[in-house]
Amino acid sequence: MGTDRIQKRKKILGIEVDIVSKEEAFSIFEELMEREGFDMIVTPNSEIIENATRDSMLAQLISEAGLIIPDGIGLVYASKILGYDLEERVTGVDFLTEVLKYLEKTGKSIFLFGSKPESEEALSVAELAADNMRKQFPNLRIAGTHHGYFKPEDEDEIVAEINQSGADFLCVALGSPKQEKFMQLHKNEFTVCRAGIGVGGSLDVWAGTVKRAPEFYQKHGLEWLYRFVKQPSRWKRMLRLPVFMIKVIAGGGKKTGDM
Ligand code: UDP
Repeated sequence: MGTDRIQKRKKILGIEVDIVSKEEAFSIFEELMEREGFDMIVTPNSEIIENATRDSMLAQLISEAGLIIPDGIGLVYASKILGYDLEERVTGVDFLTEVLKYLEKTGKSIFLFGSKPESEEALSVAELAADNMRKQFPNLRIAGTHHGYFKPEDEDEIVAEINQSGADFLCVALGSPKQEKFMQLHKNEFTVCRAGIGVGGSLDVWAGTVKRAPEFYQKHGLEWLYRFVKQPSRWKRMLRLPVFMIKVIAGGGKKTGDM
């Protein structure tokens, strides 16, 4: 890992994140795509950071990622309290769009793994997302897709399918921490893929099965409010944001383990 990147890595509630702008995150991504081996990209929000404080395996695998992009307004506020220089959040959905542009331009290919399988009425979410990605990026090479509802014993076959597809980049939409744990478990088995990113519900957004918050909510850091109104059943998960903020503030603004 380059020294620049090590300097960007700080801790929030003891969990590592890279304090990077969109441009910096993207140039690290380009570096990962050039180097041998498979690197994981994670996009933790405050909920994931909070979970990681109680899940040492998740904390460990976040720290081993090649790029840890802070996603979510909670991390921007936390950075302010801790005195880190994080001006903007880089959302997973926006980052994925930049990645697609890069892949189209360089002729590299992507494999879409995760989300709901096909039904009698519709194609799988990954196939629908692939169709919409091709509309926006006509020269994008999509090497393959696979839905995200599988048994542990199917994993080897899925990894083999990803390898056989020859994809250079892997997009995993299984929700967190399942997607990160999948990538970590198989990271030494990917023969062609240089990097993979966990994107949560982003394929649903690309497929059009879930709508992204209107721009107003995005601009004002209120996507959480929009999601709450649309899916009130998520209220328990949403309580993690204030809990996260209270913990950061209770830390007295101290840089808990600045690296
Ligand atoms: N998902 C999946 N397999 C599973 C559980 C979830 O493919 O076993 C998919 C689900 O269909 C959805 C995504 O993972 O597309 C998770 O979305 P969610 O909004 O819960 O993730 P978040 O962005 O909050 O991490």
